[in-house]
Amino acid sequence: MEEIHRTHYNNQINESIIGSNIRIAGWIEDIRDIGNLGFIILRDVTGTIQVVVGKENISLLTDLPRQSSIVIDGIVQISKAKDSSVEVKLKKIETMTKAVHPLPIDPTGRVESASDKRLDARSLDLRNPSVAAIFHLRSISLDTIRNTLKLDRFIEVNTPKIIGSASEGGANLFECQYFKRKAYLAQSPQLYKEQLTLGLDKIFEIAQYYRAENSNTIRHLTEFLSVDIEAAYQDYEDIMKTIEIVVKNVINTVTSSEYFSKCEMSEEKRNKISQIDINKPFNKLRYQDCIDELNRSGEKKEFGDDLSDLDLRKIGKNHQEFFFITDWPLKIKPFYIHEKASNYELSESFDLQYGFLELVSGGRRQHDPVKIKNRLEEQGLSPSSFVEHLKSFNWGMPPHSGCGLGFDRLIMVLTGAENIRDVVLYPRDPDRLNP
Ligand code: ATP
Ligand code: MG
Repeated sequence: MEEIHRTHYNNQINESIIGSNIRIAGWIEDIRDIGNLGFIILRDVTGTIQVVVGKENISLLTDLPRQSSIVIDGIVQISKAKDSSVEVKLKKIETMTKAVHPLPIDPTGRVESASDKRLDARSLDLRNPSVAAIFHLRSISLDTIRNTLKLDRFIEVNTPKIIGSASEGGANLFECQYFKRKAYLAQSPQLYKEQLTLGLDKIFEIAQYYRAENSNTIRHLTEFLSVDIEAAYQDYEDIMKTIEIVVKNVINTVTSSEYFSKCEMSEEKRNKISQIDINKPFNKLRYQDCIDELNRSGEKKEFGDDLSDLDLRKIGKNHQEFFFITDWPLKIKPFYIHEKASNYELSESFDLQYGFLELVSGGRRQHDPVKIKNRLEEQGLSPSSFVEHLKSFNWGMPPHSGCGLGFDRLIMVLTGAENIRDVVLYPRDPDRLNP
């Protein structure tokens, strides 16, 4: 009978169980037959173990292609190998599925493959521990975010991703057929999360959103994971505090994880990330400081100009760290952003940057329905398309603030990835819809 249940993972095999009969399972990373002795390097999700095959069993090693999945019964014994004090003496081996060679990529990483080839064979690519490490870090970072926010009384919600009307104007929306009607894929939970502060006070959502961004950059995907938070009776300073704590807790989780050391990145990047002083507040630049900085460097920028990719790259050169850009002109912000009480031309808004890379956008939201209607009209949007949303503003909407954090971008920064595609399992961009 085929027996598939392991008794141990590889990292549980140690000197305390010498002499025990165990069953381990995984895939063949390497196999060597040196005549009257054979060796299998068996890898599972926790690491590798050397399996020694005696003369009596050597015939079992024929036709066992690398990467095949196997189950091994054996006895734990002391090893003479340099990198491990224990090994497993083979009693029985069962091949579950043979890997059919040639494989599209070499998941040991000994032979390098182009990024496209790796993404085409992503499941196999994940047998490379340095690739898998990124996704372990994603998983534990999500735990950290959830724990941090829940401790702060935020509750997790789930809003629809198929929506009947464009949530923030129409740009970049994917349209789809919904029976006899048109529907859209959500670009953000913006309107829902604002409405939810009415009854749930402080909420967060972690979900994928869709943007028809028909450009190929290292930081845009058409489907990305966003961490959205929204809180009643808070202003933008409060939200900046919250998101700074969230990001710092994630930095801490990532850099203290064993998976961080397994990520492939330059020593320079690794040091920079691990040396971030999480006791030091993130710097805050005002939008106007950025305009002044750009003008000093020879650009001709006026108040009200948006900061282009090029501008942010210039600013990012001088600030190669996490920092906020606050107090943007109201007129270049979406209709739902609140003006600043001390200057109506400005808004209670912020972005969190890492160098040139935008990670978060947020701010205080307008909660006065009359002002929202005016802002919609100013921006050429029709209040009639927002009736559904605006209703709740007449039901006693509290003042509220929030933000959206691009989770993939944060992971990109913390794992030293050059391209957002490296940190997403099955990235979607204008050219990539499969696998
Ligand atoms: P950008 O200017 O970089 O395109 P944005 O200002 O359009 O971003 P927001 O609407 O502010 O994006 O979304 C909040 C956050 O979500 C961004 O700061 C970013 O981290 C992330 N994000 C937005 N669009 C994408 C995308 N296409 N791919 C990956 N992450 C994204
Ligand atoms: Mg933004």
